[in-house]
Amino acid sequence: MSKFIFITGGVVSSLGKGIAAASIGKLLEARGLKTTIIKCDPYLNVDPGTMNPYQHGEVYVTEDGAETDLDLGHYERFTNAQVSKDSNITTGKIYYSVILKERRGDYLGKTVQIIPHITDEIKNSLKKVAHDRNVDVTIVEIGGTVGDIESLPFLEAIRQMRWELGEGYALNIHVTLLPYIKSAGEHKTKPTQHSVGRLREIGILPDILLCRTERHMDKEQKDKIALFCNVDKESVIDACDVKHIYEVPLVFQKQGLDDLILKKLKLKADSKDLGEWKDFVIQRLKNPKREVKISVVGKYISLPDAYKSIYEALVHGGIANDARVIINKIDSEDISKNGKVDKYLGGSYGVLIPGGFGTRGIEGKILAVQFARERKIPFFGICLGMQVATIEFARNICGFKDANSTEFDTDTPYPVISLLEEQKNIKNMGATMRLGSYACKLTKDSLSYKAYKKENIQERHRHRYEFNNKYRVQLEKKGLLIAGTNPEAHLVEIIEYPEHPWFVACQFHPEFRSKPERAHPLFRNFITAAAEYGSS
Ligand code: GLN
Repeated sequence: MSKFIFITGGVVSSLGKGIAAASIGKLLEARGLKTTIIKCDPYLNVDPGTMNPYQHGEVYVTEDGAETDLDLGHYERFTNAQVSKDSNITTGKIYYSVILKERRGDYLGKTVQIIPHITDEIKNSLKKVAHDRNVDVTIVEIGGTVGDIESLPFLEAIRQMRWELGEGYALNIHVTLLPYIKSAGEHKTKPTQHSVGRLREIGILPDILLCRTERHMDKEQKDKIALFCNVDKESVIDACDVKHIYEVPLVFQKQGLDDLILKKLKLKADSKDLGEWKDFVIQRLKNPKREVKISVVGKYISLPDAYKSIYEALVHGGIANDARVIINKIDSEDISKNGKVDKYLGGSYGVLIPGGFGTRGIEGKILAVQFARERKIPFFGICLGMQVATIEFARNICGFKDANSTEFDTDTPYPVISLLEEQKNIKNMGATMRLGSYACKLTKDSLSYKAYKKENIQERHRHRYEFNNKYRVQLEKKGLLIAGTNPEAHLVEIIEYPEHPWFVACQFHPEFRSKPERAHPLFRNFITAAAEYGSS
């Protein structure tokens, strides 16, 4: 039977609960335990798929095609666990299921209530994942901040579970803020005390506190927090800011967090260090041999979380090449407005255009592709990035004036990107895109094949529009290489331009499969090409 770790957050949001959860997963996995994660999000959307990135940040896509919270991305990057549809539970999902049951008459005449029906639904969803995955430890991260009205049913559910499971089977970890007040020259423990107080009011007693702080705490402060918050002294963990998120597991391990968790969960496991993680990932992050400047041209550039997996995959590509990747974030709308591409992209060793939706900034992206293609700067297009690369090629190489995607211009004379028949009649927007993992067969003589070193690959998708096969032959005649296609539907998955040293654009999202110690092959080779370009 799986044991449970419940992670809550207090005082403010953005404390890095997701990184903390992933780091704990990493430590337990290093001790030989099998783990999984569940992220509970207390909003009414059934999933984040229909939310704007400004509301939610990146939507992370799982192998089985679920649109989920980006914290699950951290978990897959830090551990070997694979997340899926049921790894992200939202209030919307829970209510949807309860209301469907009520309509079916499953509640046999009872009044359906938050307690016990909603809380039971939450508990059963958590237990089902733990059971189906057959893991030793299930980590449950509760989104939001303690004290929010909307997270109360989730907190009540984990309170009940902890009580039902009993000691040694479940554990509460609270991530809290320990602000350092410069004028007073000290840390302030009051917000943490209040936040733990709020938890206690609803019957949750944290076993371990992870104190997020910008300066290290001393023993006296730890003892004070332990005394005021009812936790053991050894259970107050200093979670001081680090330069690279991948250092967090090491910081926790140094303070014995893995031993502490094992002791509290009455689990036995061999001790092990974080070998490759420490010697390869951290070592290279800290002392890279060179620097590579990559421009990312997107629409949600001001938001650090909007392209989370892309930025991480670039870092991984850097690690593989022993290089620090300096990311130059460019708002494509700025290029659209004044057309001065050189001003924004000059000096880049590589240009990446990530996924996206909607018309804003599209012309700027097309100009960015043209700039990279003509200057022979390594270019990597992802999803929308491949679509704009196709449009640029059609317009500027094939002479198809006003070629476009029907997403941006329904009347374009050359719809080189368009909707598949099955997408044309779709009315509901939620979970109806081409989602999740699909097969792709690579063309042997391509940069992509060179990167993957195999012919058959699987990659995750999240898009509605496709390369329009009606134009395939005409584009190929002008030198476009179709480097990968879906074997069943013959959809174009990768385009390349062999007259350019490294021009690769894919319809799928390779960033979701990249890991710090195993960079995705396309990201790895993109950075290799960029480093070569930079040193030439
Ligand atoms: N908007 C495009 C589509 O729906 C691309 C989507 C994406 O980049 N994820 O096909």
